[in-house]
Amino acid sequence: MAEHLDTSKGWCCDGRTWTEHAEAGGKCCQPQGKQIADLPAEGQKKARERMGSAAKS
Ligand SMILES: [Zn+2]
Repeated sequence: MAEHLDTSKGWCCDGRTWTEHAEAGGKCCQPQGKQIADLPAEGQKKARERMGSAAKS
């Protein structure tokens, strides 16, 4: 099953997408539209790994 990442609203600081955090927690802790480059180092690493696995599957 391919992982679908909805990045249309950007990313959360913890490496999830904004949409994922909003769905899990009611709202995301970040403003919409954050790019991977805007995240802290840990979040960038997770986000890039997830993008990599999503692209392969
Ligand atoms: Zn968040």
